[in-house]
Amino acid sequence: TNLKMEDIVSLCKRRGIIFPSSEIYNGFAGFFDYGPLGSELKKNVKDAFWKNFVQCREDIVGIDSSIVHNPTTWQSSGHLDGFSDPMVDCKETKLRYRADQLYCAPIIVEEEDSNEEVVVGYVCVMEGNDADMISSATNQAKKLLKEQDKKSSKLKPFVFTDLTQVSEDVMTQVPSPGSGKPTLTMPRDFNLMFQTNVGAMQDASSVAYLRPETAQGIFINFKNVLGTSRLKLPFGIAQIGKAFRNEITPRNFIFRSREFEQMEIEYFIPPGDDVWQPYHNKWISDSKEFLLSVGLKEELMGYDVHEGDGLAHYARACTDITFRFPFGVQELMGIAARGDFDLRSHTEGSGKALDYFDEETKEKFIPHVIEPSLGVDRLILALICSAYAEDEVNGEKRNYLSFHPSIAPVKVAVLPLVKNKEPLVKVARELFEKLQRRWNVSWDMTGAIGRRYRRADEVGVPFCVTVDFETIEEDGAVTIRDRDSTEQVRIPMDEVIPYLSKMIDG
Ligand code: ATP
Repeated sequence: TNLKMEDIVSLCKRRGIIFPSSEIYNGFAGFFDYGPLGSELKKNVKDAFWKNFVQCREDIVGIDSSIVHNPTTWQSSGHLDGFSDPMVDCKETKLRYRADQLYCAPIIVEEEDSNEEVVVGYVCVMEGNDADMISSATNQAKKLLKEQDKKSSKLKPFVFTDLTQVSEDVMTQVPSPGSGKPTLTMPRDFNLMFQTNVGAMQDASSVAYLRPETAQGIFINFKNVLGTSRLKLPFGIAQIGKAFRNEITPRNFIFRSREFEQMEIEYFIPPGDDVWQPYHNKWISDSKEFLLSVGLKEELMGYDVHEGDGLAHYARACTDITFRFPFGVQELMGIAARGDFDLRSHTEGSGKALDYFDEETKEKFIPHVIEPSLGVDRLILALICSAYAEDEVNGEKRNYLSFHPSIAPVKVAVLPLVKNKEPLVKVARELFEKLQRRWNVSWDMTGAIGRRYRRADEVGVPFCVTVDFETIEEDGAVTIRDRDSTEQVRIPMDEVIPYLSKMIDG
């Protein structure tokens, strides 16, 4: 609700989930490191995706392609020519901004004597596509007007959402964010792909690119996968892996970074104008179901259906699943119906026919494709936002992370009630070692039991197993405490694993 990004960032750091990259060297903008808990969380998220969409389906297989492809790949895919964002530079500070995220409000004053409207200044905000940012720009403009003592002035804040529509005249008057001084250049295209050189030569012939998406690795392997599996249309190929984009303004923590991971599927379907729609709809609902299954809060999710200008020229349709992040509602995942654009482009670019032979109809054709594309890091941010919870336990305020058991970095904490009674500790330790072979579990003997529960809650451990005096002296049973309800059940030792299995693995 009133969760702030700085709270999330500091929580992630304090609890060893995510750190700024190269922190001892003052960090490196747009790069992040996952810590002990974060790396478990990330692994669990990727495993859940793979289990849901690859392991549990007969029609989808996985690949793991190289990150650097033959650079012609990016010529054919259109990335070399078209994968760019409009960028403006501040002549004063030399800082660069993504132009589609600059919002500009001209302050218009009506001259008292002539009744003529004149523009006396501009106010702009960054990434201002939500109401709060625009109203804050408006207020800033009002303040400026007051300072200028234009009593009879009339304020007409106007938001340019597309700076390419703004004339150079206006552009140079727009104050750059931060410095406040006017001098922004006109927007120009900036290609987001990172370049590198392959081999000993450092010239144009050796230039290659770090992939900006995992999808192209799937398309260029279409024939390899088809030829080595017995898949029939419709079928999908999935890939999880790193992608790199030289984002002009990496922002909002791991939401927009320069190195991130994607989970993508290319789901190939028969061609035809009336074929794709039901598949597209099914992918939208299957995707939503998956996101809910790992613990995303439904009330924070929404859809954004791209239409008209918002739709890539080759795409039939694209629906984003959005999430209400603390900085606004933003794309979490895209589900696009891309026709045969990609396989056709690579067929033309490579001279190899990337087609499909239908045994029944004896027809050869290029399949169409539905592409669900989800960012691992963006999903992790959404999951942390969904899990962040506060309540009161026994009159005391409690902060905890209500991670779904399937993705929780630590599944179980084993707590011997006291640390100075050897038989009790021994029984607890044996149980711990048994659990350790199945899940990532933790062992905690330090401090009062209440404090230990709290520590486990803070990092989102769904279950605490406590071994007490009764365990060894009377019933051979343990208590299992549920993180969210804080309720405890008493369970015989040999039923602990089946019980936890059901709760964690479903
Ligand atoms: P945006 O408009 O936010 O830049 P996009 O539309 O370019 O995103 P796609 O190319 O559709 O994004 O990428 C698919 C998914 O990959 C996104 O839905 C998002 O989850 C993830 N993603 C894209 N860019 C980034 C990034 N810079 N950092 C983290 N995740 C990203």
